[in-house]
Amino acid sequence: MKFELPKLPYAQDSLEPAISKETMSYHYGKHLQTYIDNLNKLIEGSEFAKMPLEEIIKKSDGGIFNNAAQTFNHTFYFETFSPNGEKAPKGKLAKAIEKKWGSFDAFKEEFSAAAVSLFGSGWAWLSKDSNGEPVITKESNAGCPLTSGLVPLLTIDVWEHAYYLDCQNRRAEYVKKIWEIIDWAVVEKRFE
Ligand code: MN
Repeated sequence: MKFELPKLPYAQDSLEPAISKETMSYHYGKHLQTYIDNLNKLIEGSEFAKMPLEEIIKKSDGGIFNNAAQTFNHTFYFETFSPNGEKAPKGKLAKAIEKKWGSFDAFKEEFSAAAVSLFGSGWAWLSKDSNGEPVITKESNAGCPLTSGLVPLLTIDVWEHAYYLDCQNRRAEYVKKIWEIIDWAVVEKRFE
């Protein structure tokens, strides 16, 4: 089985001004494509060649893990966005967030702080734990909550390649803009 670049449900210029067309062309078109190409080369003829992506992530390490997790993480990240999505959660996820953080705004503040304070390259995640409760975690490099038995709900890529063309070194500015394009209907569906 060959992994392929996922089709996006929106045009590459439609997330502007939060994410520019130029960033999309590099981040989605080149960085993600390279992780997928590397993964396909590394697994060819190996025990991983016929496994689904999530199983590769749970069973591999080294280069195969890095490229498999980066393929999953980026696909998950890009599929969260929409130029005209739901601006806040409704239903069960909204209730779970309010129960844990007190309010949606308080959750956003804590999630943003996790993303901005993560040292070096990595990902900030919102996941569902084994009790069905939402939890914020920080993962370095290609880290993915699937390896901790969590169900991923939302992620922000804080590798510099995600924001350097648009915001240079200003990661906090990038994180602030990301909230404008998250489609909470997608996140809610993952929770339920
Ligand atoms: Mn990235």
